[in-house]
Amino acid sequence: MSGDEELNLLVIVVDTNPIWWGKQAIARSEFTLSKCLDAVMVLGNCHLFMNRNNKLAVVASHVQESRFLFPGKRWAAADLFGEAAGNSLESNISGSKDGKYELLTTINETIAEEIKDLITTTELKGQQTETLLAGSLAKALCYIHRMTKEGKGSQEIKSRILVIKAAEDSALQYMNFMNVIFAAQKQSILIDACVLDSDSGLLQQACDITGGIYLKVPHMPSLLQYLLWVYLPDQEQRSQLILPPPIHVDYRAACFCHRNLIEIGYVCSVCLSIFCNFSPICTTCETAFKISLPAVMKSKKKKPKLAI
Ligand SMILES: [Zn+2]
Ligand SMILES: [Zn+2]
Repeated sequence: MSGDEELNLLVIVVDTNPIWWGKQAIARSEFTLSKCLDAVMVLGNCHLFMNRNNKLAVVASHVQESRFLFPGKRWAAADLFGEAAGNSLESNISGSKDGKYELLTTINETIAEEIKDLITTTELKGQQTETLLAGSLAKALCYIHRMTKEGKGSQEIKSRILVIKAAEDSALQYMNFMNVIFAAQKQSILIDACVLDSDSGLLQQACDITGGIYLKVPHMPSLLQYLLWVYLPDQEQRSQLILPPPIHVDYRAACFCHRNLIEIGYVCSVCLSIFCNFSPICTTCETAFKISLPAVMKSKKKKPKLAI
C-alpha cells in the first residue's frame, strides 16, 4: 500500500526569545515558556502517534542561534528511519516505569534537556534581541532536504513546518525570510504559523504562499487546544475539517529604513531592499547609484573651474 510508504515529517519551530518570555514571566502571565513547550511536546507526541511513519523535529529559534531540540546531538540519525532502532534507542531510553511509550518519554526528555542547556548557556550580548526566525526556518528546510535525500527511494516524504511565534517580526530579516518562503514553496513544503502575541506580516505571507494556516491564538493558555485542532491534521485531512477562516494577508513590505509598512517605495536594483525615501547609496548592500545629475547642478560645478 502506498499509504504505508508515505512519511509525514513535521518540523516545529518554537520561538524561545528570552526577552519576550521574560516579559511574560514579569507580567505574571499564566502562560510561560515551559507551558508552551509542554504544548509543543504534546503536539509532537500526538503527531508520532497518528501513524508509525510520522517523523518529528523540533527547532528552537533563539536570539543568537537556532538549535535542534529534537533530534538532539546525541540522537543517532539512523533512528529517524527506524533502522537499527533497537541498538541506539536502548542507550537513550531511561526506562519506562508508568507504561508510557518509551520513545515519547525519550523525546520529551531530550527536548527538556536541550532547552535547559540553550537557556542557561546563552548570554545576551549587545543589542541582539530579535528572534532568528529566518535562520531557524532555513535550518528546518535543510533538515527536510536531508531527510528527503536520505530516505529510501520508495518512500515519499511529505513535510511541513509549524512556526510558534512569540516575539515581534524583525524587518532586518525581511529578505532572508522571503527567500526561505520561496524556497519552501518551490519544494512544496507547507508553512503553518501559530502566533501568540502580535500579528506577523511575514508569517501571514509565508502561510499564504505555501498554503499553510495562519492563526493568532485568541487565548494563549489554551495554545494546546488550538495546536491539536488546527495543526495536528495534515493537508489532506484539513479539507474535511471546519478550520478558522483564512485571514486577510497584509502584503505590504516593510521599508528597511524605518520598518514602516509601505505600498509604494524605492527598491534597490541590486539587493531588492525597499526604502520609503530615495537615498543615493543603498544602506543594505552599499551600492552607489549613478544617477545623472540635473543640468543645473552640472553647470554650477563648471563655473568655479572657469574662474581659476
Ligand atoms: Zn523608511
Ligand atoms: Zn541594495
